[in-house]
Formats: sequence, structure tokens, C-alpha cells
Amino acid sequence: MVDRLSSLRGQDRAVSLLRRYYETGNVPAGLLFHGEEGTGKEKAALAFLAGLLCRNRTEDGACGECPDCRLLSSGTHPNLLVISPENHFIQIAEVRRLKEELSLKAFSDRPRAALICPADRMTIQAANALLKTLEEPPPDTHLLLVAHQLSLLPPTIVSRCQKITFRTMPAETVEEILGALPAAGKRHTPAALRAAAACAGGSPGRALLLLDEMEEGRKAWVGLFSRQDPHAVFAASEAWKKAGDRESQAAVPLSVARDLALLSSGGKADIINEDLRDALCAIAGRKTGEGWTREFRELLSMSRLPPQAQKRLALEAFLFGLHGKD
Ligand SMILES: [Zn+2]
Repeated sequence: MVDRLSSLRGQDRAVSLLRRYYETGNVPAGLLFHGEEGTGKEKAALAFLAGLLCRNRTEDGACGECPDCRLLSSGTHPNLLVISPENHFIQIAEVRRLKEELSLKAFSDRPRAALICPADRMTIQAANALLKTLEEPPPDTHLLLVAHQLSLLPPTIVSRCQKITFRTMPAETVEEILGALPAAGKRHTPAALRAAAACAGGSPGRALLLLDEMEEGRKAWVGLFSRQDPHAVFAASEAWKKAGDRESQAAVPLSVARDLALLSSGGKADIINEDLRDALCAIAGRKTGEGWTREFRELLSMSRLPPQAQKRLALEAFLFGLHGKD
């Protein structure tokens, strides 16, 4: 499947910039798609390059039907080169291979495009090797770099590319995007979609990673906050240990602690776990707003501990202590 530009949601500025490149026919040799992880950069880069390779491009990008679009859909277009990390980093050998391929005669009359993703995983040697190609690109060749963290790229690379910035989005937009995804909207409850969107920091990709935990974990965590149950505590700390390093692991308990702090401070607060409001209201009054905020902070600093035995013990101490403190 070849995406069109109009399928990119919540990134209007980036999309209008890409459309302008099509309109003017003035497509830079180096394009750098950058911004928070999970905001659609890779999807946008693929949609854009599909339009470059398509024979019947419209203002919205690739037609999806011509021979080039069909080759792209099947992942076999000879003019598209994809460079991605092997063993975590993009090594110099991969950039050399790219340069070799680009030095050969093109297979077809279409432009050539290389997608380097994530480009912020290039080793410094690989980046230096790429620099020469960015400075003197072969004719009709476009290098599309996708980077989550601009600061990890050498400034010499950044300055030779046109930057296309991807921004984090309001929670409502993230929720809409999730709802429209077959893998999410049909499989998950609206309450889980809403909670995942609220905890994702404006990134639909991150929200997608949170969905299973939001679906399954929220009730259990409200239970842990509401009563002392050693079995449930040990089960939670075991799961916490198994989840290892995932940053998403703390999202559910943090959302519960945040809601409790808001509810305890009074007023009709706009909470994340709206569907569990009654259960949360029953607990909220046990501590002051500041008390719950302290618990939130403790949980947050615990979630940042490296994955080790102490992390599990810290969670157990936290959960047992929760019912003893004011
Ligand atoms: Zn086409």
C-alpha cells in the first residue's frame, strides 16, 4: 500500500511544505524529517518519496496504480534504497553500500530516493561518509533522513538538509488518529483509547504502544491504590520487573496518581481515567492533593530507575506504604 499525503494527520505544516515541493518541482537533495518519536515522520517520508517515484503523481502524492507504485507497494522498487540500523547503529559499511549503488546508473528514468531511518542512529563515521553525498548528490537523487533527536546528528549533516518538523499533537488529535487505526480503534474500548491518548505526550506512536496496558491495567491499578492486597502487590511488582525497561510501564499508575491528585484538589477535574471516576473518587479523599502529588512524584522517580531487583522492591515498598501514609 502506498500512502498519500492526505492520510497524514495532525501535521498540516509539514504536509503543506511537502506539497509545495511537488508543486514547484524543486525537491531538495537532502530532506530531514525530525521530531518526537511516533508523530508520523517515517510514514510521511515514505508517502513523499512514493510521489517522487510515481509516474502519475497528483498534488496528493502517488497514484497507487502505476507500475512504479506497484513496485513500491511490493517493496521492490529498484530506485528506492532503505538504510536502517543493523545491531542498533547504522554503520559506515551501510552508507558505503548506499554510495556505491548511487554511483551506478539508475535502473529506470524515475528519480532515486534513499530513506535513512532512524538517521540519528548513524555512527559518526557513517555520518561523515554520508556528508560527501549530501554535499555533492548524484543528479535526480534525494536523501530522506528521519530522526527522532536532532541533537544526535552532526550539525554538518543537519545544515545540509531542508528540515521538516513534526510536532506533538493535542490529546484529542491523538485519540482521533488511534480510533481510525484498524489495529487500535476496532480492538480497544473508547476509554482505553482516550487514556492512552492522554498519556502519550502528543505522540500517536507512543499511544499505540500504551494501548494494551491501558486496556488491561487500569482497573488493577485503581484496585492497588484502593486497598491493601499483598497478592496483587506481588503480581504487579513481578509484571513491573518483567516489563523491564519500557518507559510505558509507568504510564498507567502515573495516570491513576495524577487523577487522584486532581480529584482530591476538588472541582470537576478533567481526568484521564474518566470511566473509572467513581472508583477514583472513592479513594481520592484519603489524601490531600499534595499527598497524591507526592505519590505521583515518587512513582515517577521509581519508574526511572534502571531495571534491577531494587526497582521491584521499591514498587512493593511504595504500594505497601500507600495505605499507611496520609
Ligand atoms: Zn503511481
